Amino acid sequence: MPRKPLISGNWKMNLNHFEAIQLIQKLGYALDGDDLDACDVSVHPPFTDLRSVQTVLDADRIPIALGAQHCHFETSGAFTGEVSPAMLAKLDVTYVIAGHSERRQIFGETDEMVNAKVRAILTNGMTPIMACGETLDEREAGEAEARVQSQVVAGLAQISADQVANLVIAYEPIWAIGTGVTASSTDAEAMCAHVRRVVGDNWGGDAAQSVRIQYGGSVKGGNAAELMSQPDVDGALVGGASLDADEFARIVQHRLL
Ligand code: PEP
Repeated sequence: MPRKPLISGNWKMNLNHFEAIQLIQKLGYALDGDDLDACDVSVHPPFTDLRSVQTVLDADRIPIALGAQHCHFETSGAFTGEVSPAMLAKLDVTYVIAGHSERRQIFGETDEMVNAKVRAILTNGMTPIMACGETLDEREAGEAEARVQSQVVAGLAQISADQVANLVIAYEPIWAIGTGVTASSTDAEAMCAHVRRVVGDNWGGDAAQSVRIQYGGSVKGGNAAELMSQPDVDGALVGGASLDADEFARIVQHRLL
């Protein structure tokens, strides 16, 4: 069965809840039923915007999935400032990003923490988007494949093949995030194919065939069609361009470009 592309907009720490409502309404107008049949689409606003965006999606019956950018792995307790997966599930969140490179680099998230989050997201009935990717130094030293392999194996440890089959892995080379530099479609395909091989070696062929692998790193309307035409690229995790409804809509509509 062909893997349906998933295009996810990571709004990062941008937009208050009034601005978030405007963006999701604009996006709802920009996309039609055919667009949302061809692709799954998720938006990942900051925590403070989730309830407002959920209300608009519900009221206007827009089939865009609500996502979160991060969560803690415990259900409740003395973790000041954190938000639990159970709280997100209650808000109808479908997808949660775990291990974004900004969380790993700025907030010190380790592979073990990412794995705990991935498991907690699954336990709460949501779908993890587990991010992985190498730095420029690692790429130049020829270590990119090994780095990504270790992140995938550690991040998905103790997860069953059936669960891996249904989750999402985002390959995001760190040197391409927010820089305007996109990996060539050949490089993006090579690494997404590598991730699929790693899944096959560790969780079997069925999981490898089903798992969705996104590319992320300066995806725009102008490069989306080329990237998404690669056989192992099953969608995109989009940062900056997801803050502009028309630009994000062009990425979702890549089949028309
Ligand atoms: C991201 O935030 O995951 C990302 C890929 O950002 P950008 O599209 O801005 O490079």
